[in-house]
Amino acid sequence: MIHPFDMSQDIERVLVSEAEIHTRLVELGQELSRDYAGKKPIFVGVLKGVVPFFAEMARCIQIPCQWDFMSVTSFEGGTQSTGKLTFRKDIDHDIAGRHVVILEDILDSGRTLSYVCDLLRQRGPASLKICTFLDKPAGRTVDMNADYVAFTIPNAFVVGYGLDYDDYYRNLPYVGVLKPSVYED
Ligand code: 5GP
Ligand code: MG
Repeated sequence: MIHPFDMSQDIERVLVSEAEIHTRLVELGQELSRDYAGKKPIFVGVLKGVVPFFAEMARCIQIPCQWDFMSVTSFEGGTQSTGKLTFRKDIDHDIAGRHVVILEDILDSGRTLSYVCDLLRQRGPASLKICTFLDKPAGRTVDMNADYVAFTIPNAFVVGYGLDYDDYYRNLPYVGVLKPSVYED
């Protein structure tokens, strides 16, 4: 049983602090605002881990844009991707001829984003780019890279700022490495 006040006890070390996140997302928001000026992009968030990143990015982007969400999951409560993707929710918008930016919490093996990209590309967007909060290049098993990366991290299982273990820890305001004892016993 996890109590909210005990969450930080389960964290081995903080990888990205709340202040670092804020500073970096302001910067990234400015970059996207410049790159997509006049293009009225659609930002597509991949639920659920993307929620805090999406919300803060949206506030940092200063151009007209629309939002949409889809849900795809490859984890079933563990710390390793099952490799089996479950498609749960599609976007609402017609993206034909539109500039689309996919927002994701973390790019690890690359399977989730490669699946999502293939799916959306079939619908004929004017452009399709990827913006990820975290990039874990050491985990990559398929050829997939993000166009925008907030933070590149080492190969560890992290939680916080949307990222979960068994749906917990998403509400931590920073990104931390989870103590292996939490999931090993
Ligand atoms: P990929 O398909 O690239 O292997 O994995 C992407 C998904 O795996 C992410 O959306 C996320 O849900 C999950 N994931 C990958 N690495 C981590 C991690 O270090 N921590 C957590 N909590 N989830 C991860
Ligand atoms: Mg996810």
